[in-house]
Amino acid sequence: MNLGINLSFAIKRWVEPPVWARFVRETLGLELVQFTYDLLDPWWPEASRRPMAAEVRKAAQDWGLHIESAFSGLANYCFDGLLHPDPAGRNASLEWWKRAFDVAAEVGAKASGGPLGGMSISDASNPKRREQRYRDLLDAVAELSEAARAAGLDRLQVECTPLAREIPYAVDQAKAILNDLEGRCAVELKLLVDIGHALYQPLFGPGARMPGWLYGLGDSIGAFHLQNTDFQSDSHWGWPDRRGLFDVAGFASEVRAAGLEDVPAFIEIIYPFELADEEVRQNITSTAMHCRREYAGEILYSVQEA
Ligand code: MN
Ligand code: FE
Repeated sequence: MNLGINLSFAIKRWVEPPVWARFVRETLGLELVQFTYDLLDPWWPEASRRPMAAEVRKAAQDWGLHIESAFSGLANYCFDGLLHPDPAGRNASLEWWKRAFDVAAEVGAKASGGPLGGMSISDASNPKRREQRYRDLLDAVAELSEAARAAGLDRLQVECTPLAREIPYAVDQAKAILNDLEGRCAVELKLLVDIGHALYQPLFGPGARMPGWLYGLGDSIGAFHLQNTDFQSDSHWGWPDRRGLFDVAGFASEVRAAGLEDVPAFIEIIYPFELADEEVRQNITSTAMHCRREYAGEILYSVQEA
């Protein structure tokens, strides 16, 4: 199994690249990393951004980490992205994505990704505008794939989100967008499936299970996000967590049965900003150990609490 970690746990805490890099390698015992744009915003002026990205690349090299991709975090997800009702808003998002590709390449990643965007209530409830937003989205992704290739990337990763006003949110819709973009993209287009999104019961019902996603999307899945959840929220909790119900070992079996064991799975835990640093350090450490045992099947005799 291919287990890694998204750097979401580190934001506003372990910000310096050598600090998170050492922590991921020495304390968490992981080598595979998904960089988050919450640590380095693509909007920052290029002159400041470039040396910062170079530091990320160097820290990853120094600590033997592989940055597989760079990904949208909390900050960019607040915005409407490529589905903004105003063309100026959509253009701004295109620009953000293109800058993000530069950052991804600068930190040494071969892929960039995130959720594509969300429609306004007004657009989503108007069938004509809804259809137009979708058509424009296809054009936007095709255009972005050219920019991704020009930046030196070889993959775009699109995250499925648990909101019906966002695209894509469900298996059929994710398949449709890939179909509709078939032959139009300059780099490979892959889906990222976050288990907390895929199993969100208020949207998908109490019967939602991962095999529906795994067999439905198959090798269109480029990566997973792992989190602990109660299936009633997009929880992004770690382990242990009294509220969490997600069975990582069971998921690992489902992934293997579907033949997707080589797909990278990134732990993506989001802690409240106000939570004590020591609690976060302990929880992300126990989370990594839990997933190494339950997902990757590692035999760990002791939990290292450096
Ligand atoms: Mn996610
Ligand atoms: Fe999420």
